Amino acid sequence: MGGMESIYPAVFRLQHSAGSNGYAILDGDRVAIVDPGLVGGRRGLLRELRQAGLLARVTDVLVTHSDADHVGAAPAVQAATGARVWLGRADAEVLEGTRRPATRFRRLLARRATDAFAGGLELLEGGEEPFPGVTALGTPGHTPGHMAFVFEDVVFAGDAVRGSDNGLRLMPRFLTSDQDQAQASLELIQEVGARWLCPGHGAVRELHT
Ligand SMILES: [Zn+2]
Repeated sequence: MGGMESIYPAVFRLQHSAGSNGYAILDGDRVAIVDPGLVGGRRGLLRELRQAGLLARVTDVLVTHSDADHVGAAPAVQAATGARVWLGRADAEVLEGTRRPATRFRRLLARRATDAFAGGLELLEGGEEPFPGVTALGTPGHTPGHMAFVFEDVVFAGDAVRGSDNGLRLMPRFLTSDQDQAQASLELIQEVGARWLCPGHGAVRELHT
């Protein structure tokens, strides 16, 4: 699998996506990418997937939320592969410009729009199975439509958590659309009972032994 780091059977951490942690989940001939990262990292990401023999197998892109450091390269992956791109409904509305970004900081960033999705978006409410064995877990707070993804003993938490030496914490308030929801989502992620936490930033960590 090239230089990709194996985290769990069938789960790999991408080495060349940019801005946030990207992951690949394998199911037989199919591959899902979780959070392809910044648009500026798209070429490195596509090259990595091609060299690993995965690019032609990508059928789905699972995006935890609409921040550019997570979703930015998704249109390029879709254009290269025809993959479905899955995103929480409320965050899709932010990308499409029909919902106001949820923090002042993001309204400033919104002047740099994400590329359009020629193949459209698949909308998540939470509870769906966007890829075999993967469940979407509604985890609003960081953004209104934030999703975590649970696959067997792994939870992909996006920016619903921030790892620290003292356990799991929330992202900073200026990047949080709703503090109470964010706290509830942090607890929900821990209650899932998965052993491996794959966050949007920072190291993969073990939650339970
Ligand atoms: Zn974020």
